[in-house]
Amino acid sequence: MPGHDDVPYKEHKVDPPNDLDWHRDDAGFLVFTGTCPVCQGWTELPLIDIAPGTIPKAWPWGKKEDATARERRMDCECPITHPQNADELPGCGAWWPVTVPVRKAS
Ligand SMILES: [Zn+2]
Ligand SMILES: [Zn+2]
Repeated sequence: MPGHDDVPYKEHKVDPPNDLDWHRDDAGFLVFTGTCPVCQGWTELPLIDIAPGTIPKAWPWGKKEDATARERRMDCECPITHPQNADELPGCGAWWPVTVPVRKAS
């Protein structure tokens, strides 16, 4: 990956990337995209667009997710396995908060 920085894996919170963006894919999922500010790896985060009051069972974080909370966590998921990552998962461990856009009532 051009420009990728092979930093050692470390889980920590960082500021959101400058190019953070989102779109809806063909299936209607909200997909956040951005370049990890730590390792410069490209990251995509598909979110299930939940209706107010519903919480998907498989929500990957939080047990008592506040249905009104619009902030989610986006982990770096660049396809590179970083050094010192015992589980050999993708990403460098950096994560940043993203704000889920509110669907406008039509
Ligand atoms: Zn990376
Ligand atoms: Zn990263």
